Amino acid sequence: MKRLLLVAIATLSAVSAAQGPEKEAVPPPETVAGPSGDNAQPAAESVDGGGDHAGARGEVPMARDVPYPGTITLKVDSTDLQRRLFSVHESIPVRAGPLTLLYPEWIPGNHAPRGPIDGFAGLLIRAGGRALEWQRDAVNVYAFHLIVPANIERLDVEFQFASPFFHDQGRVVMTPDIVGLQWNTVVVYPAGYYVRRIIVQPELTLPAGWEFAAALDIEQRQGNVISFKATTLERLVDSPLFAGRYFRALDLDPGAAIAVRLSVVADGLENLIIRPAQLAAHRRLVHETYALLGPPHYDRYEFLLALSDHFAEIGLEHLRSSENRRSPGYFIDWDKTGAGRDLLPHEFSHVWNGKFRRPVGLATPDYNTPMHDSLLWVYEGLTNYLGYVLAARSGLWSEDYARQAWASVAANLDRDRAGRAWRDLEDTTGQPIITPRRPLSWLSWQRTEDYYTEGQLIWLDVDTRIRELTGERRSLDDFLRSFFAANTQSAGAVPELVTYTFADIVQALKALAPFDWQTYFATRLHSHGPGAPLDGLTRGGWKLVFTEIPSDYTRSLEEQRKVVDFTYSLGFDVGIQTAQLAEVRWGGPAYEAGLALGTTLIAVNGREYTPERLRVAIAEAKLNKQPIELLVKNLDRYRTVRLAYFDGLMYPQLERIEKARDRLSVIMKPRT
Ligand SMILES: [Zn+2]
Repeated sequence: MKRLLLVAIATLSAVSAAQGPEKEAVPPPETVAGPSGDNAQPAAESVDGGGDHAGARGEVPMARDVPYPGTITLKVDSTDLQRRLFSVHESIPVRAGPLTLLYPEWIPGNHAPRGPIDGFAGLLIRAGGRALEWQRDAVNVYAFHLIVPANIERLDVEFQFASPFFHDQGRVVMTPDIVGLQWNTVVVYPAGYYVRRIIVQPELTLPAGWEFAAALDIEQRQGNVISFKATTLERLVDSPLFAGRYFRALDLDPGAAIAVRLSVVADGLENLIIRPAQLAAHRRLVHETYALLGPPHYDRYEFLLALSDHFAEIGLEHLRSSENRRSPGYFIDWDKTGAGRDLLPHEFSHVWNGKFRRPVGLATPDYNTPMHDSLLWVYEGLTNYLGYVLAARSGLWSEDYARQAWASVAANLDRDRAGRAWRDLEDTTGQPIITPRRPLSWLSWQRTEDYYTEGQLIWLDVDTRIRELTGERRSLDDFLRSFFAANTQSAGAVPELVTYTFADIVQALKALAPFDWQTYFATRLHSHGPGAPLDGLTRGGWKLVFTEIPSDYTRSLEEQRKVVDFTYSLGFDVGIQTAQLAEVRWGGPAYEAGLALGTTLIAVNGREYTPERLRVAIAEAKLNKQPIELLVKNLDRYRTVRLAYFDGLMYPQLERIEKARDRLSVIMKPRT
């Protein structure tokens, strides 16, 4: 995952579901009243009986590795663009007795209980034409208990997914021009089964005239109604769909036996104009990835890419596809939109690191079993490293631009993470569960999902260390190709998922370059600084410095975040449109002067605030050593603060360490 914005769900998960897949399904307690088995009564009794519905309440059965009998048919209507409703009709084969239906909660790639249950509405369950009573679990709000009457073989389940209108409601996935369908938002499934043992036959109705892409096989298409071939619930949820009024599909690996496509939807037709050099870089990404990570683990791959100001931010990995969103200018403003262009390389790398091989704690049997996130510094940290490496090797970034991006990451962790004092890297792996990326009051002190970028710095360190230890004969590339390869020695079909543990990582690295990797990682996972682990940069031949001129990467980042960046000088970001402080660095000059989030800059040294005037004031203060005077406003209060800061403008850059081996450039060089 990368830069995903989702709405928070504060809920307790079914504790019983966390205890492992081995046990038999737990039937509801004996106290269950109402129709069951031979004693079943007509459905109407359970609806009209009134009074005590507690009888339908029970624990949620744990998932078992046995086939769910029959095929669920799932019909989704995504044509209600004005009301932004997805309408769902499911037909679920059942047997008489207690049944628990689950709405997916723990979504792979989110690493968190964020299934958008707040958008789940209008649940109506019918059996034999009659409405059935259901009851939400008292603890697990994603679970719905009911009793299936005798002689009923299928349930008709209807509901809507009321998708957000605004970003503060959650991810906007329906716009007048784009629909992003994540099947987990439009399905309920019977508890008690591994999701790879549940078969679903999906059908989707799209707005008329729209095109779509998904890594699903089509049974038939009649106009705007698409019937897909039956598949497992696991594969269905792992195969989202992007549809749009404006659509363009590009072949990224012409002539290859295994197709890789870039399918683009956008706010407007003009956003789909792609220059040959841009297409060439995306095609090189495929070949550079194969060169780095080995043969693919999919039978086809779809990059789903939405270029939009309205469709929600996303970067979410799947085995045969990925969901990506960039600004409408991704292609047409290529020179200005470089920051974040590692997104596609990042999500593509997840095929190997995350989907095919996954930390054992993240390989859960269904979508309602809690995940264990402690290895996210590998799952996401290594992937972030690969994203940077592949963005450079493919030419999506120039080598110089890649160095600017590295400087930005290094500076952020080295200078803007005072919270390292209380919170170590491993502890940040709990962050997806703590908060769904809502803005924090004191980001630099609280810390966020730093396992992405700090993990990335550590993997650069590992790469350069292997090179040093082996006299440049080996590198992380060797580790990747063996660790992420399918085991061809085992007979039979290659599995779609092979799990790993921390010990597996240590062992694989040891085999490549003898070293105490165990202690190495333990030290870095529990370090409190001060300062970021920059050994990899140093051994790569480069050091972090600060200059008065922002890099192109910094400018691109400013534009995307809609802020002016004074982080490393005065210690804040300020909104371009709002003139409000968007982030204040803990312990920086602004913090020391009592400035905080939401403060509006009114005037600089007695004149109306503009970003340029503040830049000039910082430069002047360096010369005349006079404090900068800011008139600021909080709510309806005005005040004047003086910042005694005399070090001038500061923006991160990398500088060569003279005579040191330039391993970073070697790492960034194309292989194909
Ligand atoms: Zn990721």
